[in-house]
Amino acid sequence: MTRRMTRDDLVAEIQCLKKEKQAVILAHNYQVGEVQAVADFVGDSLDLSLRAAETDARIIVFAGVHFMAETAAILSPDKKVLIPSLEAGCSLADSVTTEDILRWREKHPEGVVVSYVNTTAEVKAVSDYCCTSSNAVKVVAQIPEGREILFVPDFFLGTYVMRQTGRRLTLWPGHCHVHYRFTLSRLLDLLEAVPKARLLVHPESQASWVLSELVQQGQVPADRVQFASTGGMVRAAAEAPEGSVFLIATEVGLVQRLQREFPNKTFMPVDEEAVCEFMKMTTLEGVYRSLRDEVYPVTVPEEIRQRAERALRRMLEIR
Ligand code: SF4
Repeated sequence: MTRRMTRDDLVAEIQCLKKEKQAVILAHNYQVGEVQAVADFVGDSLDLSLRAAETDARIIVFAGVHFMAETAAILSPDKKVLIPSLEAGCSLADSVTTEDILRWREKHPEGVVVSYVNTTAEVKAVSDYCCTSSNAVKVVAQIPEGREILFVPDFFLGTYVMRQTGRRLTLWPGHCHVHYRFTLSRLLDLLEAVPKARLLVHPESQASWVLSELVQQGQVPADRVQFASTGGMVRAAAEAPEGSVFLIATEVGLVQRLQREFPNKTFMPVDEEAVCEFMKMTTLEGVYRSLRDEVYPVTVPEEIRQRAERALRRMLEIR
């Protein structure tokens, strides 16, 4: 009878396979702790793909969701990209299709399409620019005034960008069900209940633009709230003095990472049930199998890859 592998065995096997196969493991901030622990890089999706592209790895294992692995494949065409779970999709990315965008383009031939990185490779390929939650405001702000802009797929990030830039955008009605949980009343109640805490809010949150309006009007003190991507939240936590207390409005995986990395600071989830089931489909066993059997490859047809890369590179020139 074969002995069942322990967690330690799995970690040791993963480390061996990584070396043997010249692989690099990327883990998104929302992954479970034990998957993050075996990763070479932990971070947000675009940053991970950019870092992997700079390595001389032969294989990238992306512990994240499908569009993230596609982004890695777009930026590293010479590497084999694997995703441990084929079911790890993203309901936000799936909410807009190429056909939706092409229909809009037909009606607005001079229009500009800005797509959030949380989109499929096909959607990126029919977009003018990509953006992340940290540079969406900059990307939109540099588009010449008077051009119509379609912003896909996240409605709340779009409203936040409209608020920050004063630009009119046509918004796609997509949203992330995890960040939808962060309502204004929930955020305001917590700010009142924990007066020492600073609130870090992901711009995908339902309340992000209304809250930014209240901050602008002085109804909520500006030093109590910061809008940030997951990478921005990690930086804010790192720079804060010991003993700082934060309320975190994003998926709970990031809260766990912050608490592990900065044990002398306190991180409280705004909602303990803000869990992305797609992100939790990747397990340590899955990472091991992915490396061992080289499954599941994620590929992007070359013609789509080149056009998607163009939208990504145009964004990177602005960053
Ligand atoms: S947290 Fe939201 S946007 Fe991110 S993968 Fe999950 S469903 Fe998609």
